[in-house]
Amino acid sequence: MASVDVTVMGAGIFGLATAFECARRGARVRVVDRAGVAAGSSGGVVGALAPHVPENWNAKKAFQLESLMMAETFWAAVDGLSGLSSGYARLGRIQPVAMGGMDLAQARAAGADALWRGFASWRVMSAEEAGTWAPAAASGHLIWDTLSARLHPKRACESLAAAVSVLGGVVEVGDIAPEGRVVWATGIDGLLMLNAASGKPVGSGIKGQALVLDHDARGLPQIFADGVHFVPHEDGTVAVGSTSERDYASAAGTDGLLEALHRTAVGLVPALADARVLARWAGVRPRARSRAPVLGGWPGRPGHFVANGGFKIGFGIAPKVAEVMADLVLGGRDAIPDGFRVEDNL
Ligand SMILES: Cc1cc2nc3c(=O)[nH]c(=O)nc-3n(C[C@H](O)[C@H](O)[C@H](O)COP(=O)(O)OP(=O)(O)OC[C@H]3O[C@@H](n4cnc5c(N)ncnc54)[C@H](O)[C@@H]3O)c2cc1C
Repeated sequence: MASVDVTVMGAGIFGLATAFECARRGARVRVVDRAGVAAGSSGGVVGALAPHVPENWNAKKAFQLESLMMAETFWAAVDGLSGLSSGYARLGRIQPVAMGGMDLAQARAAGADALWRGFASWRVMSAEEAGTWAPAAASGHLIWDTLSARLHPKRACESLAAAVSVLGGVVEVGDIAPEGRVVWATGIDGLLMLNAASGKPVGSGIKGQALVLDHDARGLPQIFADGVHFVPHEDGTVAVGSTSERDYASAAGTDGLLEALHRTAVGLVPALADARVLARWAGVRPRARSRAPVLGGWPGRPGHFVANGGFKIGFGIAPKVAEVMADLVLGGRDAIPDGFRVEDNL
């Protein structure tokens, strides 16, 4: 008989969150990573948990909203067990309203009222109300939403791994064969494995680079401007990300693209002009062909499951991914939205 009920291959956010959920439902869990906790794309610095715009609603947006609404309780449980800090806080987000964009911004405020069900709001405000921690806004207006949160990706993974151990699970590093039911949460390697096994282009990797600046904006909302995230962390730093690269020579190297992002960032948020660079980081995000998460049973491999395809929102959707994966792996209950299953990507 297997000594564990579930082996999770991969100690990134999807693997650890799924292991945590299985362990707190009473399963005997082992997490195996060949390179270590948060050794892949989850070992980064940005950690924006930000909603999609409240319009053109679809299954992915609804799934993400539910997950964002679960996040505070989820991370409080994780940190409560581990004694560590994931860095989670729901401090909101501000974005500039584009010139001529007031009607759209107001329409989205109405959309948020309907879709976010009073949990959080999306409001248009004058840029003067925001003070110095704000993006330049030619229209003179900003959007402020209270749904967005942040955490520290690497520390959140460390907190999850410790919580899994407190619950009696095991987190191991090395080439260790799985036993019991097996969840493959192996990021970009897992997508390449699915490509090879199916002969279909299930997914690929999109590299991202980010940096950490020495600027203390803790307690203030994150900023999203011109596609760039500015995330104040609880340690008094601000993370700025990220590039999006389909073609790259080195998966982990940083280069001139990050320096260009830095210049853009300072132009967008002048408060960062004198902030020293404390760290630079790069990783490869697992992106499915469908751009949706890839969740569920591995077709043709009974007892094997896949949790992958987090792309840019892996941390944001992790609590909900953990819930539906634990439902499926432990209870055989399939609550995975249509379009997310492995076979939908084949
Ligand atoms: C620059 C950048 C910025 C990001 N910003 C955000 C953000 O702001 N918000 C957000 O929500 N998310 C962000 N992400 C994370 C992204 O959302 C990803 O979706 C997420 O990290 C994917 O997690 P994962 O667990 O699927 O994969 P990974 O974190 O890559 O984990 C896979 C793990 O599997 C291991 N592994 C691989 N093969 C095997 C094997 N055969 N056996 C055992 N172990 C194996 C690897 O070592 C790795 O540790 C960012 C990522 C990057 C790169």
